[in-house]
Amino acid sequence: MEQRVEGALSPAQVSAFRRKLMQWYAAHARELPWRGTNDPYRTWVSEVMLQQTRVAAVLEHYELFLERFPTVLTLALAPEQEVLAAWSGLGYYRRARMLHKAAKFVVQELGGKIPETAALLRTLPGIGEYTCAAIASIAFGESVAVVDGNVERVLLRVTGRPEDVTAAGRAFVRMQAAALVPPRKVDEEENAAGDHNQAMMELGATLCLPKGPLCLHCPVRELCRTKGEHVTAPRGRQTSRPVAFLLATRKQGTTTEVLLERRAAEASLMPGMWELPPLPLDAVEGREPILTVRHSITNTNYYVSVYGESFAEEGPGVLQQAVPAAEHALHWYGLGRMPEIPLTGLARKVLKRLNLNQVAGPETPEVELARRR
Ligand code: SF4
Repeated sequence: MEQRVEGALSPAQVSAFRRKLMQWYAAHARELPWRGTNDPYRTWVSEVMLQQTRVAAVLEHYELFLERFPTVLTLALAPEQEVLAAWSGLGYYRRARMLHKAAKFVVQELGGKIPETAALLRTLPGIGEYTCAAIASIAFGESVAVVDGNVERVLLRVTGRPEDVTAAGRAFVRMQAAALVPPRKVDEEENAAGDHNQAMMELGATLCLPKGPLCLHCPVRELCRTKGEHVTAPRGRQTSRPVAFLLATRKQGTTTEVLLERRAAEASLMPGMWELPPLPLDAVEGREPILTVRHSITNTNYYVSVYGESFAEEGPGVLQQAVPAAEHALHWYGLGRMPEIPLTGLARKVLKRLNLNQVAGPETPEVELARRR
């Protein structure tokens, strides 16, 4: 007789869960541009973008990115700076670098063909278990479970299992997720595994919300052992930090240029990206900012003040002289070039707020705390 792990759903509950989930998904799935395609490259790009990033932010970048790099070959051949510029505003730039690196690997080592199984996809550089499972199931129909934060939350709540970050806790979630994925049926048109995985993520993103799950609308409510009463661990504490930046501008003929600073190549966050030059807080004491904005990166809320200064004939102004960066890290760029420069999300946000948005591209938070699909 089959041994069942304590707390796991029974085979009868598994089939009821699948059926109810799929009926709901067929009727309620959001229309998103990366759905309804089995092009593995498009699925790959969307899955990498969606990690730790809200759907709204991805929607602003997904089509533009694919227009610029429509195939794995065009992505592989592009210079890294161009890829980072197209990623600008999505945050977690390491994702873009790794996607680019893996695209080069596919082209150089695999003749441009993206592997079709999760196990083979794992051989690509920098591609994780989650992304492999998503591409293999959504684009190729492999019966393999995708487990992200949304899926994990749904499964813990349905089974009534407490949050547990140990290896045993993660193993339970993976086991339950795998038991729920429908097997691949030969000669079947529809992609049962891919649809199931997308439906699980959709349930977590739209109904089984971290705070205040909408249990009354939930298709698997009858099977759920906690129905909104699951105890979830408190989130990491948010901290606040004031920061100041310089918006220095100058006229070169008819072009307005802005001074940008390149972050160090060894910086832990956003290495090599361009931003407005940071200013020491004591250099701006008593001055009025031209703009204040709040910006969140992981668990830190930055209270950002931007101070403006025009470059005068006689040389750099007081604030520009207070910029601690080495001269070689600073560069004047015409505003028209902003779309092709890998700017940080904050720099893009500031330019947009100051009505330079026609050249700054979409404004999105640098990093989101949780994935919202
Ligand atoms: S009933 Fe509520 S807690 Fe349970 S899975 Fe549905 S939305 Fe989540």
